[in-house]
Amino acid sequence: MEERVSRQNSLFHPYCVLVPDKPITNPIYNLMAIVIDPTILAIIHQHNHILCVSHVNPDGDAYGSLLGMGWILRHLGKNPVLAMQDRTPTEFRYLPGSGQIINPSAVANTYDLIICLDASSADRMGTVFRAEAHAPIPLLVIDHHITNTRFGTVNWIAPDCVATCQMLVYLAQALDVPLAGPLAECLLTGLVTDTLGFRTSNTTTTVMETALQLMVGGANLPNIVARTLSRRSVRVFQLWGVVLADLHLEEGVIWVTISREQMKRAGTNRDDGQLSSMLITAAEADISATFTEKVDETGQVAVECSFRAKPGYDVGALAFELGGGGHPPASGCTLPGTLAEVSQRVVTALKAAHQQQAALK
Ligand code: 5GP
Ligand code: MN
Repeated sequence: MEERVSRQNSLFHPYCVLVPDKPITNPIYNLMAIVIDPTILAIIHQHNHILCVSHVNPDGDAYGSLLGMGWILRHLGKNPVLAMQDRTPTEFRYLPGSGQIINPSAVANTYDLIICLDASSADRMGTVFRAEAHAPIPLLVIDHHITNTRFGTVNWIAPDCVATCQMLVYLAQALDVPLAGPLAECLLTGLVTDTLGFRTSNTTTTVMETALQLMVGGANLPNIVARTLSRRSVRVFQLWGVVLADLHLEEGVIWVTISREQMKRAGTNRDDGQLSSMLITAAEADISATFTEKVDETGQVAVECSFRAKPGYDVGALAFELGGGGHPPASGCTLPGTLAEVSQRVVTALKAAHQQQAALK
């Protein structure tokens, strides 16, 4: 009889066990099924007027999973309301349903259920979630960040999934919702953007199978790539031109700082074109960082930090220690302080992490 192998890690939800259909012979193995806790399916079935929310500074997986959840709930005959802290940027307006996303001021106080997607901690929902008014409402958290703080009433956390959109593929299957049309388009967007076009080290055959199902369902891969990964404003290149003139590389860590003035002059509207992902392609670096000055809602000066790591290095743990979160190869945090103070302090910590991790190799 064929031996079935199951992998479990104490950080995984007990019901989130990925079961390979064959003994593992290759690190890029085939996973057959994901078992979803029946509590998650029940909480969705039991409620109708549902608020769905994702995270601030949204990316393709945030929009894909938010809108994808909207399509799943509508297929089940429910009445979802989708909300986001930020205004939808041009690159995601092609996504079906994006015109219906409301801003925090239009969010009501009463819903039957709140579903939070792709956010690793409560603060990532921004002001869409009002602690006082929304606290009594059951909160279902669906997320793939290993650093998730499990802030929901019910939490489904699957760090083995490359994107929250991958989790929604399994959810749709469990709920008998066809992976077709607008739902397929939204879910493939999250897979494409979180894997940087199926290039990250967690891109397994299962991920490719998932993508294939979505393409068979009608999702247009070249169109999604063209609208997201292969698209930047000229202003972004102009910003890069300015900030890359002061590029630092020390002890395997490469970084740049971006001041409010530089951002304003380039007129990119806070978009840095994922510069940290570009910097990590430097052959001489194992860890990259960008430090972007901003003013938070309270008028305080703060710095948004974005980190990337090559395979074998981990920036997720440090981001979590600093109050942020993410994944081993891509993470971030926001810290109070000036650009000079924060970047100096964090670069010291990144260099220490690099030294420690390089010693283990
Ligand atoms: P990015 O650098 O593209 O903004 O984010 C990379 C990863 O880190 C994403 O998975 C994102 O969710 C996470 N991340 C970035 N900034 C923060 C933050 O301030 N807090 C938390 N919890 N996660 C962050
Ligand atoms: Mn994600």
